[in-house]
Formats: sequence, C-alpha cells, structure tokens
Amino acid sequence: MTINVNRLRCYDLPTLYAGTYTLELDELDLRKSFVRLKVYTGQQWEWVHYPTRYNRYFEHRRAEEGWETESPKLVLNKQGAAIHFLQTKTIRAQKIVESKRDPDLVTVAVDLNVKQLAVMTVRQHGKIVATHFVSDQGLDQHRYRHLKRITKKQWQSGRPVKGERSNQQLWRHIRCQNTDSAHKTARAIVEACEQYPGCVLLFERLRAIKPKGESRSRRLNRKQANQLKGKINQLAKEKAYAIAVVSVEVNPHGTSQYCARCGAKGLRFSLQAGQRVQGLGGKLFFCPMCHYECHADFNASCNVHHSFFREFHWQPLAQKSG
Ligand SMILES: [Zn+2]
Repeated sequence: MTINVNRLRCYDLPTLYAGTYTLELDELDLRKSFVRLKVYTGQQWEWVHYPTRYNRYFEHRRAEEGWETESPKLVLNKQGAAIHFLQTKTIRAQKIVESKRDPDLVTVAVDLNVKQLAVMTVRQHGKIVATHFVSDQGLDQHRYRHLKRITKKQWQSGRPVKGERSNQQLWRHIRCQNTDSAHKTARAIVEACEQYPGCVLLFERLRAIKPKGESRSRRLNRKQANQLKGKINQLAKEKAYAIAVVSVEVNPHGTSQYCARCGAKGLRFSLQAGQRVQGLGGKLFFCPMCHYECHADFNASCNVHHSFFREFHWQPLAQKSG
C-alpha cells in the first residue's frame, strides 16, 4: 500500500504506534479510502487525511484466508513517503528429502524456453501423467520487431540517444509485455501444481546463454528472453510457495541433449518441406538408439525429472542433493 504524500514532513518515524494512525481497511469502496496520520507540522501534532493508492493483489490477499497484515511501517524515500503493510502467511510444507521418499510423490517439471515459454510435465510412479505447453503467443517476434526499430533509430542518429522519448516509450512497452507474460506463465505453472497437492516443482538451474554474433537487435532480443526466463522462474516459485508447493532447482546438465527414454545422446532436427534437416536449432528430438522422436522441449522437460531423481548415467554424481 502506498500513499501519496507531498506535504508530509516526517522526523524519524519508522514505526507507527497504535494511536498515531487509523486506516479503515474494511470500508466498502476501498478505492476511496484514506489513511489518517498524526503529523508534526512544526508547531503541533495534527491528524491529517491522506488518500491511499494500492493494488488489487493487496486486496486479494486480505480477503484470502491465512494472510495476516502486520503493523504498518512508514518508509521514506526521495520521492515521498509510503506506508508498508507487510502481509504474512504461515506455510507448512514438507522437506524435499522427506518428499523424495514418498512413493506416490508427484513432480512437476518445467522447462523454460523462448517460443514455448514453459513446457510442464507432471510425473507420478515413473510415468508422465500430464503435459502443458505455454506458448509465447508471438511475443518473441513482436519484441524483435520493436528492438529492430530501436536499433535502427540509434543507428540513424549515430549513437545511442539515452533520453529519446519515443524509444523510452518502446522500452516501457517491451518491459510491460515481458512482466505481463511472466505473470501469466507463472500463474499457469502454479495452476498445474494446484491439481496435485503436496507435489514438488522442479526447475532447471538457469544458465545465462551469452548472446553473441548475429545482429544487435537479435542480441538485445536474446537478452530480453533471458530476463523473461528469470522472471518466470522467480514469480512461479513465489506463487507456488504461497500454496505450499516447494520448488527445487536441478542440475541442467544434458537435459536438452539426451534421450528421456533411454538416456543415450540424441540429435536435434526440424522438418522442412517434409524433409528432415539436422541441426542444433531444430525443435524436434530424435534418439538414434531407441528411435524415440518427440518435441525437443518436451524431451528436456522429462529429463528434468530424471535430473531430480538422478536416474541416468549422464547425471554428474558429485553434486550435492537439494
Ligand atoms: Zn533413446
């Protein structure tokens, strides 16, 4: 919760004690609520009303069971002052070591990618019981076009112009879209977990793939895609923990290269006009040992479970368990 304060002059008032503030949180129309603060004007203490500004998530959590609002804290910065209401919830979750011993344990593995933002596979009793794909809905292409425009403008003006207005707007647009799809993807991941109470959420430890070569706009786009991955990862963990689902980061070694069925090293290929074209950029996976063929991201997602349970020989053994 934030309040706009321009006039407020505060002299070292980090904690608000009962009697120095009132806030009617249970009013019907919260959009018009205000906070009453006892303020020192220079001569005397006065009660002053300040309008409040807050987001709907705060309201959502307040209505939900299990969340408690703690005593408010006044936070001062250069722009003004804000009152922070820390909301807390006690979570009871099993330790990973204990969960791992449970024979009925459900694991939800997530593979984060660029075009398929998240590929989730749900596994129980050694079998994949459900798969969910979250597409980026063309976000990557869309963002690439914007970045191309930005780099073109910079090229025309000779050097990057930092304060240029239209570029700022474009950047804001790109940032907003990234944040939005990060929240949506994280929500989808948590919704998948919600169906299996007591499950464990598995992520690959994120590797920063260095954007090199190619054009400047492509490098920028890769960088944005990496940031989006990080955001999805962080938000999904937070949202999952709120429903008592613990997440684990597993070793990402080999998840995209090896066969999820037999553990042999596989090949990547794509179909172009009905012809198999081998190459690392291919979205399909082929195993030369057991002739297993599938979507490469699906294969990687299945391998995340193997990495968690340490099932194949390609798993480095010297790793400490999580
Ligand atoms: Zn195989």
